[in-house]
Amino acid sequence: MQVATGTKIVNGIAIGKLHIYKAPVYEISEAQAEDPIQELNRFEQARVKVQEQQHALYEKALKTAGEESAGIFEAHELMLDDDDLIDGCKAIMTEQKKGAEYAVREGFDNVAQMFSEMDDPYFQARSADIIDLKNAMLDVLMGNDTDSLQGTEPSILVAEDFTPSETVKLDKSLMLGMITREGSSNSHTAILARSMNLPTLIQCKDISDDWEGKFAILDGYNSCLYIEPTPDLIETLTNKHNEDLKKEALLQELKGKSNTTIDGRTIRVYANIGGPSDIGAVQANDAEGVGLFRSEFVYLNSKEDPSEEEQFQAYKRVVETLAPKLVVIRTCDIGADKTIDYMNLDKEENPALGYRAIRICLTRKDFFKRQLRALLRASAYGNLGIMFPMIISLREVRECKEILAECRRELANEGVKVADKIEVGIMVETPAAVLCADELAQEVDFFSLGTNDLTQYTCALDRQNAKLEPFSDTHHPAVLRAIQMTIEAGHRHGIWVGICGELGADQTLTETFLRMGVDELSVNAKSVLPLRKIIRSIDLSK
Ligand code: PEP
Ligand code: MG
Repeated sequence: MQVATGTKIVNGIAIGKLHIYKAPVYEISEAQAEDPIQELNRFEQARVKVQEQQHALYEKALKTAGEESAGIFEAHELMLDDDDLIDGCKAIMTEQKKGAEYAVREGFDNVAQMFSEMDDPYFQARSADIIDLKNAMLDVLMGNDTDSLQGTEPSILVAEDFTPSETVKLDKSLMLGMITREGSSNSHTAILARSMNLPTLIQCKDISDDWEGKFAILDGYNSCLYIEPTPDLIETLTNKHNEDLKKEALLQELKGKSNTTIDGRTIRVYANIGGPSDIGAVQANDAEGVGLFRSEFVYLNSKEDPSEEEQFQAYKRVVETLAPKLVVIRTCDIGADKTIDYMNLDKEENPALGYRAIRICLTRKDFFKRQLRALLRASAYGNLGIMFPMIISLREVRECKEILAECRRELANEGVKVADKIEVGIMVETPAAVLCADELAQEVDFFSLGTNDLTQYTCALDRQNAKLEPFSDTHHPAVLRAIQMTIEAGHRHGIWVGICGELGADQTLTETFLRMGVDELSVNAKSVLPLRKIIRSIDLSK
């Protein structure tokens, strides 16, 4: 038996085979090719193969995702017939005498660059398609087997780290647990892992590639991974796993009960979601509403800038299905670790402090208005709230509200129905917002504390940097004080204050938050019932 240790992100036990996930690396020779004709033939064979793959994806998407999504793959097939693209690559092989891989990288990158510089957002978005096709061509030319990246049977998946977009694309049905060699506990990948509720370890550095396919047990309780465990250990951990399943069943008995302390204080426990696919988890865990819908996942899941109509459909589905529950949708919080090719954002020295979230929205007004119009339209179908992220000033909030009012006027002129009253709030996730909370509270209907970023900015600790884990203190007094100050400021001005960062699910702080007077906790769906159990056991009169 071998053992590797890491840091637990999600508790629990996963039993099964280990699968090492390796994103392909493209190392491309710049040397001259010996036989240009052979390179041209290799290129042509790859082109035909990729067209076949795209056609198969089209057929599959047609059955599972509908005509509109499938259309992307049909367009990809056609792009590979485009004379400019193909002739550009062929010229690199015949005139510069370079290999097919080099020609694909340069030829496809040139066209992608050309698209990205166009004014029309539709053509800008084609740039991401060309990059996708470039990678598909390189995978075929270099023999990368991308189908097996995740394996074919459910396994404990191991990777260096996952980007948020990789995480959303993972096939959950093939995952028993998740382990990364790198990663930090407050990263979006960790947040997604929590929402999937799969046993997860990060910083498990000692995992060897030779362990691929071996039988393993991920033991979240002890933050370790056992490879080929002894029969005794298999029996102990299987029993523990079965106990977990029983406890989960007991929690189900709390469904329908209120989140009320012994002395009669009731608070709201909501769920955090990333899109319509999480509606089931909200219902299954009996959350009273959604306190944070991270709308950027609608953007991350899309190959191109989602249109107003596409966004409207996604928001409407959530709001309508969950009505009359409140669904707070946060406007696009892109940037920092959440990057999207079609947004064409520059690389920055300090992305967490950079051009992100509301800063992008306020400078790309058309982009922002598309989302606000979609949100306003969806508001007619249920109880929708709107929340702005990364706010640091009163000026920003006023500007957001003005643009929202402008969208409302436009829709009224177009005769489109919008809810009369929509709660508008802000994330309090910067020290600036905490310190200006008294002024900000007079502009909005609610505050939601984003403790992930608030901790990062208050303690000057990059949440993405795994090396900083030893310095991180999730219960840092400065953060707890900032939370208390925000709740008090909100209450002074008669608005409700919630917590939607990961700290909201920290059961060791539930009583503290209740004593501070928090009105709402919005947590990953799986934490709703365990929190209900804790809240119902607290007596604030003591
Ligand atoms: C936060 O910062 O606490 C938060 C909820 O937002 P995100 O984690 O998406 O940045
Ligand atoms: Mg945040």
